[in-house]
Amino acid sequence: MKIRAAVLEKEGGRQHVQELDLAPPGPGEVLVRLRASGVCRSDYNAIDGTTGSPCPVVLGHEGAGVVEAIGAGVTRVGPGDHVALSWTPSCGECSECVRDLPQLCATVWPVMNEAGLMDGTSRLSRDGERVYHYCFLSTFAEACVVPERSCVRIPDDVPFDVAALVGCAVTTGVGAVWRTASVRPGDRVAVIGCGGVGLSALMAAVAVGAEPVIAVDTTQARVDAAKAFGASAGVVWAGSAEATAEAVREVSGGGVDYAIEATGQGEAMQAAVLSTRTRGAADLIGNPREDTELTVPARTIPRMERRILGSIYGSARPERDFLTTLAVYRSGRLPLDRLISHRLPLAEVNEAFDLMLSGEALRVVLDTTTEGAS
Ligand SMILES: [Zn+2]
Ligand SMILES: [Zn+2]
Repeated sequence: MKIRAAVLEKEGGRQHVQELDLAPPGPGEVLVRLRASGVCRSDYNAIDGTTGSPCPVVLGHEGAGVVEAIGAGVTRVGPGDHVALSWTPSCGECSECVRDLPQLCATVWPVMNEAGLMDGTSRLSRDGERVYHYCFLSTFAEACVVPERSCVRIPDDVPFDVAALVGCAVTTGVGAVWRTASVRPGDRVAVIGCGGVGLSALMAAVAVGAEPVIAVDTTQARVDAAKAFGASAGVVWAGSAEATAEAVREVSGGGVDYAIEATGQGEAMQAAVLSTRTRGAADLIGNPREDTELTVPARTIPRMERRILGSIYGSARPERDFLTTLAVYRSGRLPLDRLISHRLPLAEVNEAFDLMLSGEALRVVLDTTTEGAS
């Protein structure tokens, strides 16, 4: 079938919406008619070369839509089901999956670099030329073919734009708090970096009764914006990791139980460690450059029982955690829809990236339907 999709021709370039061929779903694959796709910093990492991806490629890994057709052997979903998409279609059988660590699936991660589906091949092409997938999803398109294991069926009344965000930013942030850290009522929490992921973490901390919840960012405006999401205090980046951490320790009455770091910047990660109290943990979510190193005062680790936790995709099990998160959203205690600052048609994908990079947007969601095309 023919679809319209945003294609990145080469690293560093702009994306162009054009017609592509999409092959039907093979065994264990699902054709999804996309309804919304969030724009994530990790998509930009493929454009600026931080992670790199073969081109031409259709980016986008934060999507939701309706199942249109299923390949042979698919049992998890059927036509008409609403789905949110996971970019870690864990195999369920490898050593990591057996240890209940599907987010670290030993099968999925090496295959992801091949920029196809689970067998390494593409379903996307243009005049017979291969077009690469991104994170198994490629959601900057009207439709996509994805692994069955990427599909999580969601209730029909969940808005597609909210469901799309649950596919990446929200699960990354919420899971870091609920799953990686297991934050409890009364725990002191700081969130360093209040973009879409950081604010998701912040809302999750507020929802479980953490107190205080301290927002840390580089400008007063962003700290104030975080307070509107329930932060009880704010700290503006004070020029260095130590000075910022000192401010957090002061505001929190001696350091936090969990410092959630969502920028991937070395200094911010350092500030997270230095912000913690005795037995406290830095919970590192941000994706640093490969050459980033983290220096911390080693003695404080045994002496204060400080800990450093890593968190990828919120340590989540998508088929469980997407639904848990959406249930709390539907109860009103996790106002995820407030993360969406801009909605644009797919045709304005480049403007969406400009908005994200300017820092003006919290989260931009693309309307991937034909009606949304301008
Ligand atoms: Zn993402
Ligand atoms: Zn696995």
